[in-house]
Amino acid sequence: MVQVNAVTASDSLQQDYDYGNFDPEPSNYETSDRENNRENYDYDVTIVGGGIVGSLAACALSGSGLKIALIEASQQSLAVARGQAYSLNLLSSQIFDQLGLWQQIRPQIETYTQVYLSDGHYPGVVHFSPQDIQAETLGYVAEHRILLTELQTQLRQCADVAWLCPAKVLQTDFQPNAASLTIEQAGGVTTVRSRLVIGADGARSPIRQQVGIKTYGWQYWQSCVVAFIKPEKSHSNIAYERFQPDGPFAILPLPDNLCRIVWTVPHGEAERLLKLDRASFLQELTQRYGSQMGKLDLVGEPYVFPVRLLHSTQYVQPRLALIGDAAHCCHPVGGQGMNLGIRDAAALAEVIRAAHRRGEDFANLKVLKRYERWRMVENVIVLAFTDLLDRLFSNQILPIVGLRRLGLWILDNIQPIKTQALRLMLGLTGRSPQLTTANLSRPAI
Ligand SMILES: Cc1cc2nc3c(=O)[nH]c(=O)nc-3n(C[C@H](O)[C@H](O)[C@H](O)COP(=O)(O)OP(=O)(O)OC[C@H]3O[C@@H](n4cnc5c(N)ncnc54)[C@H](O)[C@@H]3O)c2cc1C
Repeated sequence: MVQVNAVTASDSLQQDYDYGNFDPEPSNYETSDRENNRENYDYDVTIVGGGIVGSLAACALSGSGLKIALIEASQQSLAVARGQAYSLNLLSSQIFDQLGLWQQIRPQIETYTQVYLSDGHYPGVVHFSPQDIQAETLGYVAEHRILLTELQTQLRQCADVAWLCPAKVLQTDFQPNAASLTIEQAGGVTTVRSRLVIGADGARSPIRQQVGIKTYGWQYWQSCVVAFIKPEKSHSNIAYERFQPDGPFAILPLPDNLCRIVWTVPHGEAERLLKLDRASFLQELTQRYGSQMGKLDLVGEPYVFPVRLLHSTQYVQPRLALIGDAAHCCHPVGGQGMNLGIRDAAALAEVIRAAHRRGEDFANLKVLKRYERWRMVENVIVLAFTDLLDRLFSNQILPIVGLRRLGLWILDNIQPIKTQALRLMLGLTGRSPQLTTANLSRPAI
């Protein structure tokens, strides 16, 4: 018989690092549920928010013996259709691989094998290549619709995941042993009870606001103009990050020789750019960023995102854990936001699965704190790094200009520093979730 909460203080430290292998344990589920308390739950884990981060958490928890619900407010077609693309780092690709999704995703996305980092028109360019980290590539660029479609296809095959979409969580009520969620779906309102709620409901996170978890952060003085372009010449799998006084400008390669641009400028300038006709927009783009890729064509309409830094003071409280943008948002320089969220989802799933396997109440604060301790420090480091990059490069104060150019020279010429900076941006520092290495079998339950 599994002894619930029979974890002694002396072995709790070891537990943080000793999660064992993932394995589906339906019998363990039945036992721990019976032992834990005899209340009736509709679900063990309810994930609010079926974006990429929430859907990935559901996939990572499937097969654990837990009964999961995933609730998404948008129509399925709308949730998928978001015209966004992300640079995926190597760690994220390993997580998708272990979930059994990489083979389907990889042919639909692009790899980048070189990164050129430059400071305005200063001729010194830092060049990163896979040799700097003894890898085959530096990362990938994937459209939102491809990642979410593959996650949803997988979820449809998971009999232990109930997918409620479109359905909106209106209210949550947390009691000592359960959370009640009031859900609006198909014109009706229902209440479900869950042992744990995972808030993957984005930067505005209604769940986080309802429970009063505080955040700190700021809106940047910049917005991001995002567009897809088709250059005349091959993008050659090169990613560019060029720092301008207005803010960083990134070009990322996509399949079919498309590129995604993320053009960070002050809010007023972003509005002005958005109002330009296509020819004038492309002319400004070429004027500012050169013509190394030949004539550019605009695909679709550019759109604008406000940019903010946000960090929750807590990621967890009893029966609740926040992941992804609900817990933190960062400046898009370096393309880190989605990668952090993917890592949160994998880490939380690992903590829950391990606790459940041992017969612990996986929704109690002691267990959830393991996830918070793991992810909070790593997220803060990346948030601080992206903030520093933006501040350092988005100004023209002479001593700072000199300092950052020295920094770029060091980065390009001192290999250990170059390797370490690259490893940070590619998600190769910090503690990796087991999902990056474990050979998960995905049983049809
Ligand atoms: C300009 C820009 C460029 C970026 N580029 C990159 C990049 O290159 N690489 C990268 O890694 N990251 C990038 N990011 C960051 C990335 O977009 C976010 O980190 C990521 O989308 C967060 O995903 P999420 O699933 O946590 O939240 P979201 O994508 O916001 O998903 C939240 C979901 O919750 C649902 N929801 C909300 N409330 C409820 C409710 N009450 N009931 C039910 N459902 C609800 C919403 O409908 C939504 O589908 C960029 C961000 C910006 C602004």
